[in-house]
Amino acid sequence: MDIRNHEADLKCINDYLLSFFEFAANSSNAVFDENEWLAFKPGDGKWLYSRYKREVQTGNRIKQAIDGIFAMDKPQRNVVYQAIAHDMKFAEDLANSFEFQTIQLEAKAQELIKAFFLYFYENALSSSWFEIDGLSMPRFGRDEFAEEYFKGENENIRFICPVCLQTVTDGMLEEHIEHYFPKAYIPCLALHPNNLYFICGVCNGRYKQDKKYSDNGNTDIRKIFLPYADTVKDKVAVKFEHKIKEDTIDFVPADINEDYIEDKIETFNYYFQLPQRWSKSLERYNMTAYRKYKRRNPTNKEKLKHMIEKDAKDIRTDLNIRPEMYLEGQYLEWLGSVQLRAFYSNVKHEGKKAVVVED
Ligand SMILES: [Zn+2]
Repeated sequence: MDIRNHEADLKCINDYLLSFFEFAANSSNAVFDENEWLAFKPGDGKWLYSRYKREVQTGNRIKQAIDGIFAMDKPQRNVVYQAIAHDMKFAEDLANSFEFQTIQLEAKAQELIKAFFLYFYENALSSSWFEIDGLSMPRFGRDEFAEEYFKGENENIRFICPVCLQTVTDGMLEEHIEHYFPKAYIPCLALHPNNLYFICGVCNGRYKQDKKYSDNGNTDIRKIFLPYADTVKDKVAVKFEHKIKEDTIDFVPADINEDYIEDKIETFNYYFQLPQRWSKSLERYNMTAYRKYKRRNPTNKEKLKHMIEKDAKDIRTDLNIRPEMYLEGQYLEWLGSVQLRAFYSNVKHEGKKAVVVED
């Protein structure tokens, strides 16, 4: 298995929680019966039951959620189980159309699903831990999740936000766990291994918030980028444009023939507004480049081009250490190619009257 540890552990948790709904769908009882449950799930079944019992005393919502599920008749419980099992497979077959079923259940059932999964996300994962069979460690909570997440190839995103590429001191401590499909919208994915990743508080709290991919009328998840399935950086090219007052950025498909790529970019922009945010950095990059090459005083356009190309190459070489340099590197390449004439003119002729000098 090449599945990374955090994914394997979350899958184990997910399977565990799904098994409760399978149990409820097959039980003829109208209450959550301890003996019947422990016969169905010997061993770690008692962990969930102890939570249920403990919450009986505190009157917490897990007790109400579980009692509510058992108050539904058996066929209803089966419909709920099938819908959750279906939705949890969203990442398994990306070749065919996929629509979530739990969001189509009746309101009461949706409320119960939400109360159940959010209890486990907020209590068991975020403020304490899971103690169930099959985990790679005896207890698994937010800290363990973060530690596993930032191992291996994710080590290089521990100090930047993987969306906006802004640096953070330590993603493990500072970044938010983001639910790509909002936990308030599709709560049965609140602990799903393909729905959870770490991003900065600005991307999550200011931009993504609870936005849904379906807000613009799209219901097919093939029309959005999926974390763990897509690397946006490989599928999107940054296109710079010189406008009168400023330079701006747009995202364009790296491969125009890729299915639904325009829709994917549109939703990604709706979520994070990166082109607008990134455009604001260009003036600083421009000023830095202007000062730097003015100091180095190239004697002709080709020399300037050569200097810029070398600097851009240095940035590319170090990108695995400093991924936050990505945008500045791309911008520099644009200055040294498409914009070379105008930029050379700026560098050589300070002031308002930029004159293009031909060699
Ligand atoms: Zn960010």
